[in-house]
Amino acid sequence: MEIAVDPIRAVEPAWAPAARQNLALLDQICQVVEGPFHLIHPATFAENLAAFQTVLRAKNVAGAVYFGKKANKAGAWLREVARLDGSVDVASVPEFVHVLANGIRGERIGVTGAAKNDELLWLAARHDALVAIDALDELERAIQIAHDTGRLRVLLRVLPPRAPNSRFGFNEADLANALRRCAKAGDCLAMEGFSFHLDGYAVAPRAELAAQLIEQCRQARSHGLPASAISIGGGFACAYVAEEDWRAAAAALQADQFHAGETFAQFYPYFQTPTGAAMLADILETAFEGRTLASLLSEAQIQLFLEPGRALLDGAGMSIFPVQGFKRNDAHGIVTVAGLSMSLSEQWKNSEFLPAPFLIERGPAQPRTPIRAAIGGSSCMEYDVLTWRKIVFPAPPRHGDLIVYPNTAGYQMDKNESEFHQLPLPPKIVISQQADEFTWRIDR
Ligand SMILES: *Cc1c(COP(=O)(O)O)cnc(C)c1O
Repeated sequence: MEIAVDPIRAVEPAWAPAARQNLALLDQICQVVEGPFHLIHPATFAENLAAFQTVLRAKNVAGAVYFGKKANKAGAWLREVARLDGSVDVASVPEFVHVLANGIRGERIGVTGAAKNDELLWLAARHDALVAIDALDELERAIQIAHDTGRLRVLLRVLPPRAPNSRFGFNEADLANALRRCAKAGDCLAMEGFSFHLDGYAVAPRAELAAQLIEQCRQARSHGLPASAISIGGGFACAYVAEEDWRAAAAALQADQFHAGETFAQFYPYFQTPTGAAMLADILETAFEGRTLASLLSEAQIQLFLEPGRALLDGAGMSIFPVQGFKRNDAHGIVTVAGLSMSLSEQWKNSEFLPAPFLIERGPAQPRTPIRAAIGGSSCMEYDVLTWRKIVFPAPPRHGDLIVYPNTAGYQMDKNESEFHQLPLPPKIVISQQADEFTWRIDR
């Protein structure tokens, strides 16, 4: 008999199938955890970060890779950033403190977000962190704090011309005022350049806006400001499934493939190219009148900063939910797992995480009778569903089996987690490998 497989198969780095097929490892963790948990693999994160850093070096561009911390709360990533002398982008005092506590020095911390509170600005000034200023009134508060505390390093965040309705960044008129204000502020403020963060995952708009800001840096320098860096933000693409799978599946998606005919506003593009560090290379190779962005930057002696979140976590984690029960509903089934859909954030954006979860069978052998099933959480809300899509399983899931969602470290794991029903948050289990041997510990 042909083995039934779901049409949207995840592409995984080698450690992931090795870990989820290691029943002894999973049994040990299940005995300690009793409930859902996440596996995280810092070595994959480190590889991703090193790949971005290597592109900067290979293109001869001075700069820094800031990990967009909000994409995952684990501390283990931060140790890798410290080891590789990377940087981190934060947006709150607790994030800032977490980063410092993991050995990253203040000058390697970037602070973004709208209307940052005074305590965060003060902490940034104390630790020589780099703050992306978003509005004129915030700039005034920052100057006041810098005046009382010591020098504050800032970038000015620009409103992207292609996204005039964004609530972030200075429009043209405010930017001109901000530059005048920075020039007047004197030594307490170091205006180090400009920043932006774009929606979407395209190369061209990032390269174009960066090139425009080189010109802005020149003008700012003519007013006596240092202006020696441009941050192009995050939004580096990831591919979760293979191109053929995604093309076929995306074209065929329709309501009858989802439990209760559920429909969604949109889905993440689960296949894209270029991704990650290759996308950075393409941005730097983009040519303007025959000159690449890389050469324009180095000629103008401007550093390039970037703030990838999701792309550094690509392939670096998975989420595991014990099966609590299974029942038939019509021609398909419904699996109920221990845990909640809040531990898989995509549902909370009126969307769904489409790469198919894996079934890890832990009971005695049973006949292969493929079945389609949706996957619900163990709360009493009708809408607490992890996967509305009817996933093809090789056999009906049973109590005690495990459902494994692949590649969840970027935003899925903990962005929307809650202790609804007073259930504990799923712990993050840090996995490391020596040859084929896995060891594990709970992330602090
Ligand atoms: C969220 C965010 C990022 C990270 O975005 P990714 O899509 O995860 O790469 C970077 N910079 C800023 C300002 C952000 O708000």
